[in-house]
Amino acid sequence: MFVSECLKVNKANHLEIGGCDCVELAKEYGTPLYVMDEGLIRNYCRIYKNSMDKYYGGNGLVLYASKAFCTLYMCKILQEEGLGVDVVSGGELYTALKAEFPVEKIYFHGNNKTYDELMLAVQNDIGRIVVDNKYELGLLNDIASKLNKKVKILFRIKPGVEAHTHDFIQTGQIDSKFGVALETGEAMEIVQEAINLSNIELVGLHCHIGSQIFDLDPFKLAAKVMMNFIGDIKDKFGLEIKELNLGGGYGIKYVPEHDPIQYDSYIEAVSKVVKEIAAQRGVQLPFILMEPGRSIVAPAGITLYTVGAVKDIPNVRKYVSVDGGMGDNPRYILYQSEYDAVLANRPQDEKTEKITIAGKCCESGDLLIKDIMMPEIKPGDYLAVLATGGYNYSMASNYNRIPRPPVVMVKDGQSKVVVKRETYEDIIKNDII
Ligand SMILES: *Cc1c(COP(=O)(O)O)cnc(C)c1O
Repeated sequence: MFVSECLKVNKANHLEIGGCDCVELAKEYGTPLYVMDEGLIRNYCRIYKNSMDKYYGGNGLVLYASKAFCTLYMCKILQEEGLGVDVVSGGELYTALKAEFPVEKIYFHGNNKTYDELMLAVQNDIGRIVVDNKYELGLLNDIASKLNKKVKILFRIKPGVEAHTHDFIQTGQIDSKFGVALETGEAMEIVQEAINLSNIELVGLHCHIGSQIFDLDPFKLAAKVMMNFIGDIKDKFGLEIKELNLGGGYGIKYVPEHDPIQYDSYIEAVSKVVKEIAAQRGVQLPFILMEPGRSIVAPAGITLYTVGAVKDIPNVRKYVSVDGGMGDNPRYILYQSEYDAVLANRPQDEKTEKITIAGKCCESGDLLIKDIMMPEIKPGDYLAVLATGGYNYSMASNYNRIPRPPVVMVKDGQSKVVVKRETYEDIIKNDII
């Protein structure tokens, strides 16, 4: 009935998530409110982890891409579920360290990591650094030699496969700020350079081909290209590459038309390709890493709002405004992302009119959903926007000096605040007169 499997209608005829009544949650914690189903997050972690065991003999690790949603509590869930994390900034790294996440399972990405960020990573002996470019390689080697350490790295490679939703292209793609290109020879050059550095140990290769992908073929193609590069490296330098990280980007259902692939079929499809080419090229089977972000958290989250002004412009459009907007969900204004919504207090009412759901920020583009069929909505109704668990809280801002909403985790009918609501005091706390 709903795009997210964590939702149902309860006996009170209200929307329910994780055994909790959404109307009660809205009353208890206020709105806007992020709510996330912890049981479902854990379930998705297990599906990925089990698929790695089933289809690849457990010779791999699932890394959660924490940029999708990164908090101390999320790190605790991941640790309990046996996943690793990928971080893309000093702030995400700091969060994982503060959560006492096992350092060997932290991977650090990014196209322009600063000296301080790399220093923090090396000082804390994190698992791997995914090196993006030659400048970073030199910087990292300097830091490692200063600290008298040998750092394990992967290189970020542009495999020449770019995918987005239902399309993918196989050539070009040199025009990306991430990584080093295969076809120009840049990737082979940087491999040679790493071999000659005394404080660097090259253990693996990484690629990430896009986001919200609904097709297995681009992942299979990327695996093929990367395995052949591993073969080329062995032929040229006699070096065995031990790890292959194939990134994330697995699509989810935001609206009913979206048709995502079962999460466990990715590793099933990719492991076949990896085994085939390893045999063909005479290289060892690599340890495989995959990096789902959105697909672990987005379907498990909703945002609850209270409806305010309803403005019907005859023959034009009916605007229903809520008490949040681009501050807590900037994805519409950034990418015109699609979402589905349901009235939390009357989820089964017939959808009789086409409306546009607007935020409360001073931007005309501050919409949440354009042209959606809904029941007639009145001020005071509670609206749930669905599948907001990924890239919503993590992208939230204080635009218009609106405090960011709290995050509440729900599980088995219990709720728990894992991020507090910001206050006006928080808003001015760094201001100096
Ligand atoms: C963003 C990102 C991911 C996760 O992408 P999703 O679309 O959230 O699955 C994984 N790896 C890298 C390197 C990324 O930049």
